[in-house]
Amino acid sequence: MNRKIPYRTYLTEDQMPKYWYNLRADMKDQHDPYINPGTMKPVQYEDLLPVFCEELVKQEMNTTDRYIPIPEEVQEFYKTYRPSPLIRAYNLEKELKTPAKIYYKFEGNNTSGSHKLNSAVAQVYYAKKQGVTSLTTETGAGQWGTALSMAAAYFNMPLTVFMVKISAQQKPYRKAIIETFGGKVVASPSNTTEAGKAILASDPNSGGSLGCAISEAVEQAVKTPNCRYVLGSVLDQVLLHQSIIGSEAKMAMDLLGEYPDVVIGCAGGGSNLGGIITEYMADKLNGRKSPAFIAVEPASCPSLSRGKYAYDFCDTGKITPLAKMYTLGSGFKPSPIHAGGLRYHGMSPIISKLYHDGYIDEVRAVGQKSVFEAAQIFSKAETILPAPESSHAIKIAIDEAIKCRETGEEKTILFNLTGTGYFDMVAYMQYIDGTMEDYIPTDEELEAGFESLREIPLNSGI
Ligand SMILES: *Cc1c(COP(=O)(O)O)cnc(C)c1O
Repeated sequence: MNRKIPYRTYLTEDQMPKYWYNLRADMKDQHDPYINPGTMKPVQYEDLLPVFCEELVKQEMNTTDRYIPIPEEVQEFYKTYRPSPLIRAYNLEKELKTPAKIYYKFEGNNTSGSHKLNSAVAQVYYAKKQGVTSLTTETGAGQWGTALSMAAAYFNMPLTVFMVKISAQQKPYRKAIIETFGGKVVASPSNTTEAGKAILASDPNSGGSLGCAISEAVEQAVKTPNCRYVLGSVLDQVLLHQSIIGSEAKMAMDLLGEYPDVVIGCAGGGSNLGGIITEYMADKLNGRKSPAFIAVEPASCPSLSRGKYAYDFCDTGKITPLAKMYTLGSGFKPSPIHAGGLRYHGMSPIISKLYHDGYIDEVRAVGQKSVFEAAQIFSKAETILPAPESSHAIKIAIDEAIKCRETGEEKTILFNLTGTGYFDMVAYMQYIDGTMEDYIPTDEELEAGFESLREIPLNSGI
């Protein structure tokens, strides 16, 4: 094979970004403000202090500083598992017989197995610096809880993880890793919070949801002295921390003399997509270049492609601020047969705004069987077992590469490979033995979630 570009491109430690890139500084129109559901007024800095760490609230509200320094301690932690490689998918290209050039940024090269560690370490660092004495969070599939427990162990910070009950049952090893790193796992809904008790009262057999686990974690943070809540996606601060993915990717692509025609990311809460697109989106917002951006989501939880752009709660218990985002309604729960992750009812306000304003060109909703098919093609060619979430991006990267085979276009495709799938083997087994099914909610089913949006006064005409 004739190749000038290596399989793997790594930056050196010295080349690693020393700043997070705050994309909002490039956005002429900001997303609508978070609203305090008690007063129906925009959330103020002070409103958030009982829930979040000070420095993180500042980051959440910062729409003006383009570069935000990464604290030295966080940079040092990053160096234990970063820079992550930018990989040229020569073998996948060959398998697909495509003239396209496919690159992916691989974020699964750490024990948590995903990009979530990038924000976890920042959030725990700021909590420690402020003198916070314990943290709470929620986790669905378990990647965020794992990443956070690693960061909490590093900074010696007690942590309680409310884990969606069905995940805690289906993924006992995830729970075991979190506990190995010293985190305390509570299956949600639980009897330890009012929010959990209320949900159990209405449905004693509830398997839980991310939205419900968020309610419990926030409640415990607010009622425990000197405790704060941390969230692994959706928020502006999380997208900020994840910008390191995009900054590294852009630097490595620049070194190779490459610029993507299309950038692809899977979208659950929107953090890795926000991260990988950051600097390329800045090019687009400033009119320098015009790469295409594609967000990929599961057909069974289609917040961007079929949700409403409306104000909604970030949790099921309706205790968080209201965020303007694409949402299926805070009560939406994807079908239990959905195994591919990305189950959150809403979407990052930044990603929602960029999509609404046309800067994210396209959203594709894909069925889980096609996602696992793509995962298998990819793993055979590239020798990495991808997470089901990441495989949504793989599916569309493959589709785009096949399109190039048909048209002869030599496009440069960049996608984010967010993590590895070692804890998802039950889902892989279902795919292999043919018992996996696709599930696409009907309009009527989605309508039930939209009803709850109409109860929020700000959503006229929804
Ligand atoms: C959490 C997770 C996602 C989805 O979260 P985003 O905030 O949308 O990035 C994607 N891939 C992996 C491996 C994850 O753990």
